[in-house]
Amino acid sequence: MKITDIQTTILRLPEVHPNGDGLQDTLIVEVHTDAGITGLGEAHTVPLVLKAVIDAPVSQLTGQGLRQMLIGEDPTRVTALWEKMYHHSCTYGRRGVVVHAISAIDMALWDILGKSCEQPVHALLGGATTERLRCYASDLTPKDVPAILDLAQRHRDAGFTAMKFGWGKLGNDVRSDVKWVAAVREALGDGPDIMIDMGTPVPLEDALWLGDALAEHGVAFLEEPLSPDDLDGFARLTDRSRTPIATGEKETTRHGFRDLMERGGLRIIQPDVARCGGITETMRIAALAEARGVEVIPHCWASDILVAATAHCLASFKRPHYLEFNATDNPLKTDLLVAPIRQVDGHVQVPTGPGLGIELDRDTVERFRWTPGGD
Ligand SMILES: [Mg+2]
Repeated sequence: MKITDIQTTILRLPEVHPNGDGLQDTLIVEVHTDAGITGLGEAHTVPLVLKAVIDAPVSQLTGQGLRQMLIGEDPTRVTALWEKMYHHSCTYGRRGVVVHAISAIDMALWDILGKSCEQPVHALLGGATTERLRCYASDLTPKDVPAILDLAQRHRDAGFTAMKFGWGKLGNDVRSDVKWVAAVREALGDGPDIMIDMGTPVPLEDALWLGDALAEHGVAFLEEPLSPDDLDGFARLTDRSRTPIATGEKETTRHGFRDLMERGGLRIIQPDVARCGGITETMRIAALAEARGVEVIPHCWASDILVAATAHCLASFKRPHYLEFNATDNPLKTDLLVAPIRQVDGHVQVPTGPGLGIELDRDTVERFRWTPGGD
């Protein structure tokens, strides 16, 4: 089997705002083969820049676009092709958007491998340890306490036993943040897990104060309170905070995650399969984490392509923790597959079909297809 083409498609909502939902656009990748099998992948950062990384022609030995270096290759040699993509882009890559683009193609290669041997990806990763994954409702923080309470109660009524609120007003006034967390805890009782995602870095002193204050309300983890590069700050925070600290959605490769664990002292890391280097690299990162007793709770805020890829990885872990489940009403999340991935009683079934076990809804693709140079 040979790769014959790599097709990129940008999907974009009609209106996109700088302060809007992180899933206002995305890039999907289809890797075509001469066997008639097509693999599906997704990368989730800036679609037009991702597309350039895939489309670029050769510039130099270690400065190549991803498509031209893969045409004619056997797509089932997933690890070898990951290394080829990494090495032949390493002058301008190794981190950031190039690794995000590698993530999408790697995901598609695993999809092809699974389809070619009629096995779900999790079977190829060693087999699932569970058929369904506990997920947490992941949502944006509304602007006032009544709205937050209303949302929290809706998530609980929908069956979630864990929920995370993030971004929005968080970080403007950490004392008021703790007040509404306290209000949510009082309204919901001790049952559900509650997590907080700052999204925007706060001063280290504020993060230290939050780590103590949120512990009073049983917050399961505090996410991204510091800059992704502030490893010294994370080391101080993880050493002193009574609330567990989590980060990693902006990190890439096992090298970056090794630094987060070793220098930053992180005990919960959040690789995003659509950014960190795909399924191949997520499993390597998970192995590094497992050897250190660090929890891996993947970041997962893109379409159901990412949800499926993440579910296959998580299901193959020895002890899978939460699957992040975007609980907002966004058609790029809810309508992209013929059979969208739904949560029932706070759980998601691990896909069982060959490869990623998913199929694109072509009507939704056409509805949100965006062409550079268009409006
Ligand atoms: Mg986050």
